[in-house]
Amino acid sequence: YGDASQKVDYVFKVVLIGDSAVGKSQILARFARNEFSLDSKATIGVEFQTRTLVIQHKSVKAQIWDTAGQERYRAVTSAYYRGAVGAMLVYDITKRQTFDHIPRWLEELRAHADKNIVIMLIGNKIDLEDQRAVPTEDAKEFAQKEGLFFLETSALEATNVETAFTTVLTEIFNIVS
Ligand code: GDP
Ligand code: MG
Repeated sequence: YGDASQKVDYVFKVVLIGDSAVGKSQILARFARNEFSLDSKATIGVEFQTRTLVIQHKSVKAQIWDTAGQERYRAVTSAYYRGAVGAMLVYDITKRQTFDHIPRWLEELRAHADKNIVIMLIGNKIDLEDQRAVPTEDAKEFAQKEGLFFLETSALEATNVETAFTTVLTEIFNIVS
């Protein structure tokens, strides 16, 4: 954690998208600061957070952008997507609607972002397994069909959050290096 290293070899912009309240900001808090808050307020103001990691002996600064509560369909502006080389497309496994909206988000993403963008589909809140409304198989199938990476996470329990980001960042690294 922290940006203690002196020299940065790469800066990768990654955007978080998906419906409101699926856990985007908490996934980011977990990844960037190893923090979590159960009563997180809707995101205001903060545009992005960074974390520098080492991938194959190179220093990679991940610049992760979080929507400032603009998750209403089409409210996320093209500036948000500009320059993004990775995207985390998040839904809540306990809210079927948030998964049903994923194709829209994907369409929006593909309309605005670079065509080589690396995309990870994330089903968040797997700590709430007893309230699951989206079968893992459905999401896996969708991801396969669309050529996306796929993982289920819990920002609360820190499950797979690190893996989700390192998978995307390593894939980007392999493309650009
Ligand atoms: P955003 O609108 O997509 O940024 O969603 P937030 O990150 O603000 O999270 C919305 C709510 O879901 C907050 O009350 C969070 O504490 C909660 N939340 C986020 N991630 C998880 C998770 O993995 N498990 C559980 N149980 N709650 C979560
Ligand atoms: Mg938020």
